[in-house]
Amino acid sequence: MNTHYELIMVRFGELSTKGKNKKDFIQTLFKNIKNALKNDFSRCEVERRFDHIYVHLNGEDINLVGNRLQDISGIHSLSFVHRLESNIDNIINDSLTLIKEEAGQTFKVNCKRADKSFPYISDKIVRLVASNILKNTSLKVDVHNPDIKLNIEVRMEATYIYMKTIPGAGGYPLGVGGKALLMLSGGIDSPVAAYELMRRGVSIECIHFASPPYTQVGVIYKLIDILKCLNRYQASIKLHIVPFTKLQESIYQFVDESYCITIMRRMMYRISEKVARRRKCLAIASGESIGQVASQTLSSMMAINAVTSFPIIRPLSTIDKLDIINTSKKINTYDISIRPFEDCCTIFTPKNPKTSPKEDECIKFEAKFDYLSLIDEAINNIETKIINSEE
Ligand code: ATP
Ligand code: MG
Repeated sequence: MNTHYELIMVRFGELSTKGKNKKDFIQTLFKNIKNALKNDFSRCEVERRFDHIYVHLNGEDINLVGNRLQDISGIHSLSFVHRLESNIDNIINDSLTLIKEEAGQTFKVNCKRADKSFPYISDKIVRLVASNILKNTSLKVDVHNPDIKLNIEVRMEATYIYMKTIPGAGGYPLGVGGKALLMLSGGIDSPVAAYELMRRGVSIECIHFASPPYTQVGVIYKLIDILKCLNRYQASIKLHIVPFTKLQESIYQFVDESYCITIMRRMMYRISEKVARRRKCLAIASGESIGQVASQTLSSMMAINAVTSFPIIRPLSTIDKLDIINTSKKINTYDISIRPFEDCCTIFTPKNPKTSPKEDECIKFEAKFDYLSLIDEAINNIETKIINSEE
């Protein structure tokens, strides 16, 4: 199967509408595709043209390369294509050879002629190709619901023949949207939030708040496994681990139990903002979803968000938990996320967290201890790991 397709045609779709940014986008996508293929499919060559990118297989497995490309954001769709010199006899003959490899009883030929200097108009090409197929096979024409769609594109540089169009990941090429600092917990939601950001072209660095000995080092291994899954979409991801124990102990010493979670999250955002600025991230992102738990009601988010004017992105804010779970299964992080572990949020979970905490109450509690120097100390002791797909 597919023995005659030596190329994969990559279409950009959405990003071709972006006018003056188009060139940058295509350049970034081109680079991302090359990076994604360079280790596992080293024989592939990537060719950039004005309106498409082509991947030359040079003997690599077309289905495996196709699968890999389906994960790359900014790709609208893919086709396995055969490229030939624009010559009517070749087009007729190669179309027959290719359609014989397909399963089905009925077919339809489509033709697009971008090269207006080619001496045959599209209709004529379709008729010549179809009549040769009718003559040499038992296939029948069905223009409404064919089993096989044979597509011919006569372009300036060559002619392309293909049967199928496979959807790509859509979105924008990773990197064109700048960089965000993602709060990564090890639960189900934050890896999905990471994936949604990356699909929009935003690359990520991650920040995690660890409270040893209340939280175990196992959490970190879990995060590394999660990030290894996400390496499929971003080849190298930085993970900043913040020692959060002292701050958390102070919170539980000085703050009324019902406000502990709110204050803890205010501290997380304060630290995240400082790290984001230092790391040149343009936004902070989290896996928060409206209403999931007490700390995620709109009034809770208001009290938490009040500590920063930095842009906060919550890609999952309005997404149903079931849809989040489906996405986490699709990107293979679900099974890792559900491994049992203690998050710093779950360890000290109060019996009655406030669902509508007040900002002035937060300020009153925070005045009881010197959180600013605890924040500085935590930031000075951040440990950074780089998670790569190669390891
Ligand atoms: P998740 O499934 O991502 O853990 P959740 O539904 O359990 O989310 P929370 O525990 O309230 O919800 O956390 C909400 C968000 O806050 C998380 O998605 C994550 O972005 C961030 N967060 C929570 N705990 C941590 C942590 N220890 N380190 C970094 N970020 C965290
Ligand atoms: Mg959690």
